[in-house]
Amino acid sequence: MARYTDAVCRLCRREGRKLYLKGERCESPKCAINKRNFPPGQAGLGRNKVSPYGMQLREKQRAKRIYGLLEAQFRQVFARADHMNGVTGTLLLQLLESRLDNLVYRMGFATSRAAARQLVRHGNVLVDGRKIDIPSCRIKVGQVVTVKPRFKEAEMVKHSLDVAGKRPALSWIELNPETVSGRLLAMPAREDIPVELNEQLIVELYSK
Ligand code: SF4
Repeated sequence: MARYTDAVCRLCRREGRKLYLKGERCESPKCAINKRNFPPGQAGLGRNKVSPYGMQLREKQRAKRIYGLLEAQFRQVFARADHMNGVTGTLLLQLLESRLDNLVYRMGFATSRAAARQLVRHGNVLVDGRKIDIPSCRIKVGQVVTVKPRFKEAEMVKHSLDVAGKRPALSWIELNPETVSGRLLAMPAREDIPVELNEQLIVELYSK
């Protein structure tokens, strides 16, 4: 499957804010946004005027990059949200948040969504006791996500849980660090999704 393979910190610099794509490094002084908070490339320092269309486009790019989706995948998720009853922007975020790779990250079994995706793809994640190796798999309310028993003691997972323990707990996820498992308790309300996005701009962009 196609994926972005260039330096991910460039994506944050392009968006002018932290997208938290590199786990622990994002919180450290080494973060590129702390050191070089201007767009990459020679013209980077000169770009400052953004049209309304440009703002909508940037917001969509930010969302894609935060959740690690390519354009076609992101459009599919949006189309699904658009066909559901409710506020399209919130539904879009709920669909993105209920992806298996995102939940593995939110539960703290991996330090970033990219690392979570790899954990899933390698067949190390179980949903209700069954191996699921599709990162985009949508988790339903009540389902339990865990890692394979042999991974529960892995340094990488323990370390990720330590790092995640420093983040504020999410009311819509029940986490049990002892058993390295978590349950999706409910679809999160917009105010409970800790992501800095103006999803309404994305809805406006795709509604043109
Ligand atoms: Fe973005 Fe993290 Fe790189 Fe900072 S360290 S620029 S937040 S990916």
